[in-house]
Amino acid sequence: MKEIYGLYLDIDGLGTTAIASYLTNKGIPTRRPKPRPRHDSWHNSMVGKILSNSVYRGKFIHGRRSPDPIPVTVPPIVSNDVWEAAECKRKARRKHRLVAYDHPFLLQGLARCSGCGSVMARRRNSGGANKVYHYYRCSTARYDKVYRRKCQQHAIFPAAPIDADLWKWVKTLLNEPSRLRMEFQEYRSSLQSDDNPVRGKLAKKRKLISSTERGLPQLVYLFKKEKISET
Ligand SMILES: [Zn+2]
Repeated sequence: MKEIYGLYLDIDGLGTTAIASYLTNKGIPTRRPKPRPRHDSWHNSMVGKILSNSVYRGKFIHGRRSPDPIPVTVPPIVSNDVWEAAECKRKARRKHRLVAYDHPFLLQGLARCSGCGSVMARRRNSGGANKVYHYYRCSTARYDKVYRRKCQQHAIFPAAPIDADLWKWVKTLLNEPSRLRMEFQEYRSSLQSDDNPVRGKLAKKRKLISSTERGLPQLVYLFKKEKISET
């Protein structure tokens, strides 16, 4: 963990992607939550999560998403200064990365690949003298080392005409309040209809809850009979 901070803060510091491949090449195992299969490849997001986790400077935040989180002091792995320096660098780099996209990708986070369902990632290519091209591209179009999948559909679309068309459509829609209302009502009823995919997921979760609840008395019974221990 200390080494990750060191690599990141080095004068010719590596980025999270470079650190991820460095750790993978060294054969350092990742720490993944149990339900998922163990990966031996590091992903840049894992490195980013380590760098941003305040537990490494000795501050564990209990209930981070709750209205009043409780800070707990734990033995630090890196000094507060090192941690703050990494955080500073992370923020600066992120800002830099956002500036790199000088095209407003309207479908960012909305469009998905029809082949594999992955999000369509933003891509920027410079084609020589002052020419820059923007694309939407399936995020697993290239082989994804971490999740070991590759999209067969080579989905790549130029962003400029798509976003221009989309914006034109949005503008006409905004100029027709009656149509906008109609589309909104259609959307609302689609949310209530039974074929909404979210409803399917909800039904599955409910089923899981009820089957867990059914198993509970059995568990309590076994526990009382001391057939199973507290562990
Ligand atoms: Zn795809």
